[in-house]
Amino acid sequence: MHNCKLTRNVLMDYALGEEPTPQVSAALAQLSCCPSCQAEYAAIRNTLRVSRQALSTATPADDFWQGYHARLSESWCSIRKWQRSKGAFLAH
Ligand SMILES: [Zn+2]
Repeated sequence: MHNCKLTRNVLMDYALGEEPTPQVSAALAQLSCCPSCQAEYAAIRNTLRVSRQALSTATPADDFWQGYHARLSESWCSIRKWQRSKGAFLAH
């Protein structure tokens, strides 16, 4: 007999990274006959996906710091150039 609460508990553990057990396969099989559990499982997976994405975008990419100094000195150079041209303009 299908038990919504038990099915959702099993699938929640599975979605959080637990090893698939026979209980998990049974719960997954029951999703097709219970739209309510199916929606719940989809919501769990969606929430996890969004939080994983948020975590990965909150951390700069590995190559961020490699190019950081180059980008910094580049923008510093353009500021100096701008200051020089402005100075030359004002001197006239
Ligand atoms: Zn159910």
